[in-house]
Amino acid sequence: MKDLYIYNTLSRSKERFEPLAPPHVGLYVCGPTVYGYPHLGHARPAVTFDILLRYLRERGYKVRYVRNITDVGHLENDADEGEDKIARKAALEQLEPMEVAQYYTNSYHHAMERLNVLPPSIEPRASGHIIEQIELIKQILAAGYAYESNGSVYFDVGKYDAAHHYGRLSGRSLEDMRANTRALDGQSDKRGAFDFALWKKAATGHIMRWPSPWGDGFPGWHLECSAMSAKYLGERFDIHGGGLDLLFPHHECEIAQSTATCGHDGAHYWMHNNMITINGQKMGKSLGNFITLDELFTGSHPLLAQAYSPMTVRFFILQAHYRSTLDFSNEALQAAEKGLSRLMAAVTAIDKIVPSDAATPIGAGKLTERFYTAMNDDLNTPVAIAVLFDLVRTINQLAEGQLFISPDELDELRRAAHRMVFDILGLRSEEIVSDSGLVAPLVGMLLEMRTEAKARKDWAASDSIRDRLAALGITIKDTKDGAEWSL
Ligand code: ZN
Repeated sequence: MKDLYIYNTLSRSKERFEPLAPPHVGLYVCGPTVYGYPHLGHARPAVTFDILLRYLRERGYKVRYVRNITDVGHLENDADEGEDKIARKAALEQLEPMEVAQYYTNSYHHAMERLNVLPPSIEPRASGHIIEQIELIKQILAAGYAYESNGSVYFDVGKYDAAHHYGRLSGRSLEDMRANTRALDGQSDKRGAFDFALWKKAATGHIMRWPSPWGDGFPGWHLECSAMSAKYLGERFDIHGGGLDLLFPHHECEIAQSTATCGHDGAHYWMHNNMITINGQKMGKSLGNFITLDELFTGSHPLLAQAYSPMTVRFFILQAHYRSTLDFSNEALQAAEKGLSRLMAAVTAIDKIVPSDAATPIGAGKLTERFYTAMNDDLNTPVAIAVLFDLVRTINQLAEGQLFISPDELDELRRAAHRMVFDILGLRSEEIVSDSGLVAPLVGMLLEMRTEAKARKDWAASDSIRDRLAALGITIKDTKDGAEWSL
């Protein structure tokens, strides 16, 4: 098998992928913060690193894939100021913070399942690793790269930068950053403007708090990934991934934390997916273009002309290289929907092709090789998909009797097509879901039956209909005028 090359953000070049201890590969990807519904911004890293995981497994590696859940310590802004988002949501909705975290974690899992994103091998929660994080802070303090201040502990970026280079990953220099920033106003507990919190003192009334040698508080956001990657993958592991928005300061701080304690960075390769824009604009709540995945799948956002199935969204994401920006628009999604249906129709059509013993080779192997060459080139999925459309043309010619194929080659073609489309790109048939022409009246009929059951006080039947629909992923919401449903 040919070599796999991946772009390492740290070296700013494509490097041949060589695991530290083959056939094992340690992969750590920064997971979601769970204080809101999963949105478009979650879909891209999830699909990108799902492709990496699938392709590494395809190449025979045994991947330990760790993707965390950030359920504590993620504050309002990068300067470590503001309120904990989960605690705020909990207070707002009168819930236990862990209820908020669990609710949105479930919602994230459900969306990932619909996108056919494989689950990680380990999914650690930041709140379940407070002891490990406190231990790491002690090590950083012992190494002399942190200081305690008024019940909080901060990483001393200035001292670290003097010994190592802070900004290695993002290509920044502390000197430039300082030159472009206003001086501290004297109100802060920090010594330097770029020092970041390892431990924050909990203010009175702060719900999520744990005892520590420095008093009651909670860990800083950057710490959890260093602590959990080291715990499950070791102090040195293969790949660390995440969105480009996490490059600075999050990943830069992770590198500083690992280097401060072990003398070296945790990850060998750093991979970052680029961002999603919507009609050319950055996605943001204030811009009115913040689209959740559920809104996308049901078409219930004002910017959407229609519903887009999870596989359409997945296919659309794969049509761009993960390091390019990706612009969402109705036109682009509709084009993806058409392309996907052509591809899936062709894969299904393979089964109807009748082989001929007299056929000359059509070069199915060459086509497959081109697909793998594209994947080996830093997971170049747009080129791989272009190869698949050559395959679609060939299949259609075979199906229409313009081209002939031997039984052996047909067998090879079928296996290769399934492998490329289903196993590696992770696409799957959505006929049942996408045929809303049939689903809607069927669900409507069941809801009518449920209303009738309720009218005759047959609660068992009414609940059974609701629960069985829920098991199929259909949520029922009772309203004044009856019931609404969503997939
Ligand atoms: Zn992280």
